[in-house]
Amino acid sequence: MSEAAAVAEVNADVALTGMESGSDSEQTGPAFTLELNQDQKDIRDWVHGFAEGVVRPAAAEWDEREETPWPVIEEAAKIGLYSFEAMGQFWADETGLTLPIANEELFWGDAGIGMAIMGTSLAVAAIFGQGTPEQMGEWIPQCFGTPDDVKLGAFCASEPDAGSDVSGIRTTAKYDEAKDEWVINGQKAWATNGGIANVHVVIASVDRELGSRGHAAFVIPPNTPGCEQGAKVKKHGLRASHTADVHLDDCRVPGACLLGGKEKLDERLARVREGKKAKSQAAMQTFEASRPTVGAQALGIARAAYEYALDYSKERVQFGKPIVENQAIAFALADMKMEIDAARLLVWRAAWMGRTGQTFENAEGSMSKLKAGEVAVWTTERAIQILGGNGYTREFPVERMHRDSKIYTIFEGTSEIQRLVISRAISGVHIK
Ligand SMILES: Cc1cc2nc3c(=O)[nH]c(=O)nc-3n(C[C@H](O)[C@H](O)[C@H](O)COP(=O)(O)OP(=O)(O)OC[C@H]3O[C@@H](n4cnc5c(N)ncnc54)[C@H](O)[C@@H]3O)c2cc1C
Repeated sequence: MSEAAAVAEVNADVALTGMESGSDSEQTGPAFTLELNQDQKDIRDWVHGFAEGVVRPAAAEWDEREETPWPVIEEAAKIGLYSFEAMGQFWADETGLTLPIANEELFWGDAGIGMAIMGTSLAVAAIFGQGTPEQMGEWIPQCFGTPDDVKLGAFCASEPDAGSDVSGIRTTAKYDEAKDEWVINGQKAWATNGGIANVHVVIASVDRELGSRGHAAFVIPPNTPGCEQGAKVKKHGLRASHTADVHLDDCRVPGACLLGGKEKLDERLARVREGKKAKSQAAMQTFEASRPTVGAQALGIARAAYEYALDYSKERVQFGKPIVENQAIAFALADMKMEIDAARLLVWRAAWMGRTGQTFENAEGSMSKLKAGEVAVWTTERAIQILGGNGYTREFPVERMHRDSKIYTIFEGTSEIQRLVISRAISGVHIK
């Protein structure tokens, strides 16, 4: 669970420009700025246009249907937004900001549909983070398919008895040397796109005695016998995003499906058995890379609810004046805006740190996700209050936004787990 240890090794200095240092030394680092560059603005506006024109109008329908919005994903694929290339472009921004910016805009449109589009990225992040170049080239495009034949990816770490505590994973992977195949058995829980994905990435134990340090990540290729969807989960929010159990029964995959390869795994296990420190746990690497991005999704929901409530408060007249003229309402809106902006700064900082290889000394990735998730729940609840009775009905979107926001204090590490990680990082004490 050590966030600080899991991420970057390089600790670069932050160069603050525009300040009189009194020194003659040359400026070596990039200038500090919060101004977005033209590429970032273009991508933000592009994603926003899709969120506004396509996602938002479809949001209520797919929430009610509780089904994967394939036509919307196809639309996203047609304009290149749902694609390996777009993900690559978002990720390539060396400031790290484009990925959270794109996520915020998409989830501003709708979080359920946003997750239906972005759920694949968890599997992609695992392949990207742990796979060899050959594995990336083979499997990442298959997570997306093509605009004419759209596919999904699923990342399966959680199990019925292993949620926050990934060391409890019971799914096993045994190597059949004669056939150069891995045989995977177990049950995965709550997998986004589980069972309907083309490519599943599964975390399994190759040595139960080593706990989470004996885990490895495997690609399950499309249509592999023994990999089946279990029960589909009926949810409080994010209802346009498919969540299901995945059963793995003597599921055989080629040796080449072990992400990173067997040689690397054997070396890592040997280090662990000798009592040396393993670099990091397979599942935690994936979570670490994605936490600020998940925070950005929560921000999108919060901003959407805030904007809706602000507009509503100017229109809604009670006691002869718009309700925004009451301090109780206006101050709530002021706090909502301030909290959203504060959360965004944490998200951007963590995204920048991750992309530029800064050391997460104080679990800044966890901070960003924790703050943004809690701000989203709080802001959407405030938005319902500002809309009064209308806010509580399904005729108005803030009710859905509130339901959607709650998951952001639960998945990718609950709020309690984020606090555990942060408190351990700042204290150096193994808080329990
Ligand atoms: C919609 C949805 C989508 C999901 N998508 C995926 C996915 O794609 N892939 C995947 O692998 N998983 C996924 N998950 C699973 C998700 O990551 C887990 O639900 C989450 O990690 C929490 O685990 P849990 O539900 O078992 O809760 P538990 O671990 O049982 O926690 C229950 C409560 O106890 C608290 N708690 C636990 N341990 C401690 C502690 N040490 N100190 C203090 N408090 C503690 C928790 O914070 C929480 O409040 C998804 C879940 C949902 C609901």
